[in-house]
Amino acid sequence: MNDFIYLDNAATTRVKEEVLEAMLPYFCESYGNPAAIYSPAGKAAKAVGLARQQVADVIGVKREEIYFTAGGSESDNWAIRGVYEMLSGKGNHIITTKVEHHAVINTCKYLEGLGAKVTYLSVDEYGMISLEELKAAISPQTILISVMAANNEVGTIMPLEQIGEIAREHKVLFHTDAVQAYGHIPLDAEKMHIDLLSASGHKLGGPKGIGFLYVKKGLKLPPLIYGGGQERGRRGGTLNVPGIVGMGCAAELALKAMNEQMKQVMYLRDCFAEKLLEEIPEAVLNGHPYNRLPGNVNVTIPGVEGESVLILLDQRGVCASSGSACSMAQEGPSHVLLAMGLTQEEARGAIRFSLSEENTEEELDKAVHVLKEIVVHLREIMLQKYT
Ligand SMILES: *Cc1c(COP(=O)(O)O)cnc(C)c1O
Repeated sequence: MNDFIYLDNAATTRVKEEVLEAMLPYFCESYGNPAAIYSPAGKAAKAVGLARQQVADVIGVKREEIYFTAGGSESDNWAIRGVYEMLSGKGNHIITTKVEHHAVINTCKYLEGLGAKVTYLSVDEYGMISLEELKAAISPQTILISVMAANNEVGTIMPLEQIGEIAREHKVLFHTDAVQAYGHIPLDAEKMHIDLLSASGHKLGGPKGIGFLYVKKGLKLPPLIYGGGQERGRRGGTLNVPGIVGMGCAAELALKAMNEQMKQVMYLRDCFAEKLLEEIPEAVLNGHPYNRLPGNVNVTIPGVEGESVLILLDQRGVCASSGSACSMAQEGPSHVLLAMGLTQEEARGAIRFSLSEENTEEELDKAVHVLKEIVVHLREIMLQKYT
């Protein structure tokens, strides 16, 4: 087992043994191109068909509505750019939020350069949008509402069903970046009136570099990649068969265990959060008090720099993150926490722990203990500096 405590499951997850097992035959045995005519290829094609059904079942859609991609970022890009291209004759207005993943925000920014008008909905202190603000933002020019299912930094779960209802009433397409939610909490594309949904394999125990976009039947989304007609002509390129098989397996495992796993991870999260707040009483929990992902604990610890804490945590074998894996490379505090009204300083003090069913209570106790020592140590240094 690991010699570190892994609390960064929102950034990526360990591939499950069953998933790896399921993938292995498609590297050196049934490695045929699924489009070919001979039997080893037929086996690969069959496995892809099964995986398509497995990933579709998690959101209650048909397998013909699933288009495999190379991950969540690609699916987000495709959905938003595709709708913009498809509906350019109808309007140019997109509604999204200030707390989206950069795969959505930067795609919208790019489209603004091409003439799109984008409304970035604000959020409250818990990271939740206002449905009233959403309704008020819709105009005859609006072609797309893109709101994430659950936030990757603070875990806040958005009211997808109500958003979908509003989108349907106004005949506007609804896309959701469900990368954090898919396989972790229940999602029903039909009930939630979702037209387009992005998901990624590596956030639920599957491999990296595989994901899908759900495109509701009848929607004429333009192709993402012109090529050899794969994915019904919409996303050319030889299929990533092992990746697809791995994602299918991870999706099936997640669906089967969802209720049980949600309970287990929430229990671990609540023990961890409670203990953390007990040991470090000044720490503040960021995000929604109950509408949040099972595994997310995002805290601000006043008076200490998040980055310094993370480096010291790493030295003691605890893997956590400052909010999103992607914003590490970029300068500046999290756009999500700033949108929630935190000050620059508060946002810089934030640390995200994201748990999974693989964590143990023992590990979590150890992590709190280590965190406390680090905070005490950092505060001592600060005191020496200023007295
Ligand atoms: C991780 C993540 C993505 C990006 O997915 P990749 O498969 O890594 O490209 C997009 N959106 C959210 C909310 C994520 O958490």
